Amino acid sequence: MNEPISQMMPKETMPERVSSLWTQRTLKFRIPCVGTGLHTGRRVNLTLLPAPADHGIVFRRTDLGRDIPASYNQVVDTKLCTVVGEGSARVSTIEHLMAALAGAGIDNVLIEVDGPEVPIMDGSAAPFSFLLECAGTTTLDTPRKTIEILRPVRVTDGHAFAELRPFDNTTSQAARPAVPTLELEVSIDFADAAIGRQSRSLRLTPENFRDAVAPARTFGLLRELDHLRALGLAKGGSLDNAIIVDGDKILNPGGLRMKDEFVAHKLLDAVGDLALAGAALHGRFIAHRPGHGLTNKLLRALFANQASWADITPEHLAAVAA
Ligand SMILES: [Zn+2]
Repeated sequence: MNEPISQMMPKETMPERVSSLWTQRTLKFRIPCVGTGLHTGRRVNLTLLPAPADHGIVFRRTDLGRDIPASYNQVVDTKLCTVVGEGSARVSTIEHLMAALAGAGIDNVLIEVDGPEVPIMDGSAAPFSFLLECAGTTTLDTPRKTIEILRPVRVTDGHAFAELRPFDNTTSQAARPAVPTLELEVSIDFADAAIGRQSRSLRLTPENFRDAVAPARTFGLLRELDHLRALGLAKGGSLDNAIIVDGDKILNPGGLRMKDEFVAHKLLDAVGDLALAGAALHGRFIAHRPGHGLTNKLLRALFANQASWADITPEHLAAVAA
C-alpha cells in the first residue's frame, strides 16, 4: 500500500470535487425505511447508519445478530439476485442498494436489516438514492481505497461476457482520466420484441447515476414470473416493483420510465455488483448480457491475479495528467 495521500498531495491543493473522489465518505445521519422482500413477500425494516473510516459496507441481520461484509468473496448465490452470506446468515437482493451507495460515492455504512432480504422498493435504486440524499453524506479524513485496472480480465458464459479493461494510456491523454473513473458499457439482446437489442454506456458520477440509471426498474418475463411463483419465489413481485414483459407487450399500465430502461437497469445492477470490489475502480467495464453471476466471477478473476490491478493514489493520476 502506498503512503497516505496527506503526505503526497495536501487536500487544499486539490479542487474540492477532486479531493472528495479520493476521500472516504459516510452518511451524516441514520435513516430507516420499511419495504417488502421480493422473494419472501415479507415486510422488512432497513436502517442505514453512519460508520467510521475503513468500516466498509456491512449488512447486519438484527434478527440473528450476525454481520456480513458487502464483499465479492461473501457472495453465496447469484441466480435471481446477489446474495451475501456469513455462515447460515444471508442477505439477498443487495444489488440496488449497493448501486445507490456506489453511485453516491459512499464507502462506509452499517445496514441493519431484520430479515433475509433488502426490500425491493419500486424495483429501482431511486428510493435508496433518495434515502441517501435525505441522510446526507460527510467526508472522512481517510484516503479511499482506489484500484486501477492494469490488464484486461474477461469472463464468459455462453454468448455472454464481462470484462474489465485499463484505460488506453498509449493514445490521447483524455483516454485515461486524471481522476478515479469507472466507465461502463453494457448491451443486451432479448428475443422478446419489447426489449430487443439495447446498449448504453455510463461514466459513473453521482449526477449520471441519479439521472440516467437509478430510476431504471428491474424487469422480468411473464413466463418466468409464473415459473418463479410456482417455485414459491417472487411472492412480493408485482407491477409496482418490476417491469413485466410478455413478448412485444409491457404489462405495466404506466409503461416505461425511459425508452431503454432495460439496459439502464443492467447498468444499475453492474454498478451494484462491482461495488462489492470494496474499492473505487479506475477502468472500464464492458459486458454483453451480463448478470449477477458473471459480474461476481469477473471480480473473483480480477483479484485472483495480482498483476491485473494496483492500488493508486492521486499522485499516480496527476503524473499522467501532467
Ligand atoms: Zn436489478
